Amino acid sequence: MFNTLNENFEKIVNSLKGKAIISESDLDSTIREIRIALLEADVAISVVKDFVENIKSNIIGQEVLKSIKPDQMIIKLVHDELVKILGSDNESLKINNTGLTKFLFCGLQGSGKTTTVAKVANYIKKNSRKKILLVSADIYRPAAQEQLQVLSQQIQIDYLKQENLNRVEDITKKSLEYASQNLYDILLFDTAGRQTLDSQMMDELKLVTNYLKPEEKILVADSLTGQDAANIAKNFHSAIEISAIILTRIDGDGRGGAALSIKSITGAPIKFIGTGEKIDNLEAFYPERIAKRILGMGDIVSLVEKASENIDKKEAEELAKKMFTGRFDLEDFASQLNQMRKMGGVTGVMTMLPGISKTQKMMAENNISDDLIKKQISIIYSMTKKERSDPDIIKASRKIRISNGSGTRVQDVNKLLKQFLQSRKMMKKMKSIDQNNLPTDLLNKFKGSALNKFNF
Ligand code: GDP
Repeated sequence: MFNTLNENFEKIVNSLKGKAIISESDLDSTIREIRIALLEADVAISVVKDFVENIKSNIIGQEVLKSIKPDQMIIKLVHDELVKILGSDNESLKINNTGLTKFLFCGLQGSGKTTTVAKVANYIKKNSRKKILLVSADIYRPAAQEQLQVLSQQIQIDYLKQENLNRVEDITKKSLEYASQNLYDILLFDTAGRQTLDSQMMDELKLVTNYLKPEEKILVADSLTGQDAANIAKNFHSAIEISAIILTRIDGDGRGGAALSIKSITGAPIKFIGTGEKIDNLEAFYPERIAKRILGMGDIVSLVEKASENIDKKEAEELAKKMFTGRFDLEDFASQLNQMRKMGGVTGVMTMLPGISKTQKMMAENNISDDLIKKQISIIYSMTKKERSDPDIIKASRKIRISNGSGTRVQDVNKLLKQFLQSRKMMKKMKSIDQNNLPTDLLNKFKGSALNKFNF
């Protein structure tokens, strides 16, 4: 995520490292490099212009030149500017305390809209006790309606089928009636996606909006389309005044131009980001945290949140206790690897850690990948219960059987056993941690150290 910007900003900051003051020529070249970095990330030109102007006037207008090192100052200024254009604070979706709340979803076909409707429904279901109803008003593509219905079954949320209706105003009216009669709290209303922006599409959208009177008009846009996403958003905004944006495919976006342009261009905040194809790959959007990720400062807060969301606290506590008493076996090792997978795999976790590009290089050099983790889990699952609890008995013939069973090589089994023994050894060394409050204490230590490093 945002690798291009991350690498370019890292270079800019490194070029200033060790300097006591920033000279005029340093300043000029830094500003030029920032401009190039943003343009390479496909940020809209008007946004780039304001961004560098603000940085320039902040540097010139400040006395901090003498008191703060130039590299730190640039990090701070770029960070603040990034936060500003990304939208300052996280804004949550507006949900009424009583009565029906309606969310309208719009966007181009293929932007990830249908998947996102299901992701948002699932997110609300996980975080509240609201009764949710899904509706698709895509009268042009029955397959799109079917897709939402299939997703609704997967997440066990109600879907109102209306295949017999072929006018959007009828679908809207019927949905509202049904939702009110059946005491639903939230209606997620998906509209038709088109391949390009056209006036008929916008007219239909206006019509639906007038009938539905939604609390949120959410535009789903594909982050991979860069500043085009911002221009598309502008068009939707002028038609129906969108109130929120969800950017999809952030996971594959190395540049970040859409995220950095869209708020400035439309005025509507990004409320969520799609970080993968799975239903739970949806994250609330926190500008501050994203700015830190872009600058390679990591996003420890999201990591901690993800951990608490995906890791069963009791299981984690039991694991941690075993780690310190030395009773940690291969079964526990497998559940640790599984927890890592649940948190988005190594790649997912690593992008949130400080010094992303360095960590990624290190991982690539050591061939650490999600595939490796999968392989290791299958090796452990090919062992007998006895072997898992007492790895010392795994000698040559057992290794051959295990490698055959897991479709791997004996070297892979050896590597896994070595890694397990190393982890166990390391765990025994970490005895200083508060044993009564293990997971929290571990996370706090981790969080504290990483954040302190980057305090401004
Ligand atoms: P729609 O035509 O706009 O309704 O798009 P779909 O919801 O059918 O999504 C199109 C494709 O994009 C599907 O394969 C989705 O799984 C995928 N997709 C949606 N959101 C994301 C995301 O955040 N990340 C990734 N990697 N894929 C996504």
